[in-house]
Amino acid sequence: MDGRDLARRIVDRSAAVAASLTEQTGVTPCLATVLVGEDPASVTYVRMKRSRCAKAGIRSRHLELPAATTTEELVGALTELSGDPGVHGILLQHPVGPHIDERAAFEAIAPEKDVDGVTTHSFATMSFGLPGGFASCTPGGIMRLLDEYGVDPAGKRAVVVGRSAILGKPVGMMLLGRDATVTYCHSRTADLGSVVREADLLVAAVGRPRFIQGADIKAGAVVIDAGYNPGNVGDVDFASASARASLITPVPGGVGPMTIAVLLEQTADAAVRQLGIEAAAGPDAAAAPAAVSR
Ligand code: NAP
Repeated sequence: MDGRDLARRIVDRSAAVAASLTEQTGVTPCLATVLVGEDPASVTYVRMKRSRCAKAGIRSRHLELPAATTTEELVGALTELSGDPGVHGILLQHPVGPHIDERAAFEAIAPEKDVDGVTTHSFATMSFGLPGGFASCTPGGIMRLLDEYGVDPAGKRAVVVGRSAILGKPVGMMLLGRDATVTYCHSRTADLGSVVREADLLVAAVGRPRFIQGADIKAGAVVIDAGYNPGNVGDVDFASASARASLITPVPGGVGPMTIAVLLEQTADAAVRQLGIEAAAGPDAAAAPAAVSR
């Protein structure tokens, strides 16, 4: 499953929305990125996100805070950005360091600017299938890939390995919303292999290189590898898994590009909502956001 091509189309559509908005209102959508500390991977991720914003005609404003920043200071900075009318979306790059209450920081992001889908408001709207919230970007990107390749989760046995707040948990809820029968696996799951072998649709979100081997993939399963480990390696052993799967995402080039694409799309859409105007939707109807039905 080619995430690069679909991501490019979503970014093109976001750029069209941003350009239309700028033309109509003189206001360019703006994403505020917040980085705490100097973790090299986080620095790279934020740089990539800002560079993609620039290419799509979306402004970005960057706030770099020292590693010793307290929860109160971070909450203060995010509250300020939430109240700034020149900022339409906010991305707090995580992890933020063990001394910070990450949940308190996320909750300081105004729901209408939560374009990374990290607040409880966004999680609740997504889980209940209500309008008005934003998808968690990686899970949102995964659902778009499934739609692009005509994979209907309804009735499928979906197994999600991983239950993090930004990835495993929300993607499981999205699959449930699309009528899959969902099982979550985690570090305390007994006999993980036997659960994985039952999956018609497998999402690997573990953070361990080549953790899932082809021998544990059901023949014909759809395999989504959300993992991204040092050396550009996923959580699934691609060589053995691709011999058994009907569809599989590569690493790199599968889920990764979708995350940033959804972030840009949601930033443009957040600006449209905040400015209260209609912006051109762009040429690609297939790139419209996937609905979560329940
Ligand atoms: P995380 O917060 O560390 O969560 C990892 C999950 O895997 C946890 O739920 C953990 O279980 C589970 N797990 C760990 N060891 C396990 C084991 N031996 N057996 C079964 N489950 C196990 O990681 P994350 O943030 O969700 O990220 C997961 C992966 O996705 C990473 O490779 C990350 O780089 C990648 N990722 C990619 C993107 C992208 O844009 N492509 C975005 C985000 C993340 P417990 O809950 O029991 O600890």
